[in-house]
Amino acid sequence: MIIQDATPEQIRRALKALSAIQEIDLELAEIAEERGGLPEQVKSLTTRIAEYEVFITAKEREQVEAEKVAGESSHKLAVARERLTKYQEQLYAVTTTREYDAITTEQDTAKREIGEYELLINNNTTRAVELVQMIEDKQAELVQLREDKIAREQELERKLRETEGEEKDLLERRAVAARELNPRLLAHYERIRDAKDGRGIATLVGEACGGCFALIPPQTQVVIRQSRDIYACESCGRFVAPDSEIN
Ligand SMILES: [Zn+2]
Repeated sequence: MIIQDATPEQIRRALKALSAIQEIDLELAEIAEERGGLPEQVKSLTTRIAEYEVFITAKEREQVEAEKVAGESSHKLAVARERLTKYQEQLYAVTTTREYDAITTEQDTAKREIGEYELLINNNTTRAVELVQMIEDKQAELVQLREDKIAREQELERKLRETEGEEKDLLERRAVAARELNPRLLAHYERIRDAKDGRGIATLVGEACGGCFALIPPQTQVVIRQSRDIYACESCGRFVAPDSEIN
């Protein structure tokens, strides 16, 4: 006995209200599912776009830095080559071994520096070219992501507009049906609905609960058919209504 001292008429009305609420809840769930993925997708695209922007900015900075190092090294390379030429000219004018040694040491230093600057120019120029390509690729992907995001946002807006009225109407009808119900019955229905695939009320199918197909004792079947009480299936917890109440 769930509702005490209820008449069969009251029990039938309660089951009808529960059944109507279940139909409404299933439609509301469908609307939520239709929108379902979209807000998540928009959010995830927003995050990815921000990540791409941060990445591209970092790579652009790296590119500028590589070009700067290459440029500075070119300048230093020219200076070192000039020095080397100057030392070679000075060698013709030396008169002592000490002078000769000093100049060849300077020459070696200039040669080593030239090698280092050439390597720096080469590495940084290659890196800058790679970065330009990488930035171009990422920018193309970013354009695509932004377009995707706009498309999803528009779709979401359209769906919201489409379903707004329907949802409002369903919620109003649900509130009307809920007013008829004992709050404890509604709370039980909602608890089972959330736990069992969105369905908190089933019909008697032959001798079984239509929700989980557990057999229902013959005496209880009579109670259900005669609307003498509201019965919750012992196996799945769903209310069990006689067919006629549901359909
Ligand atoms: Zn059941």
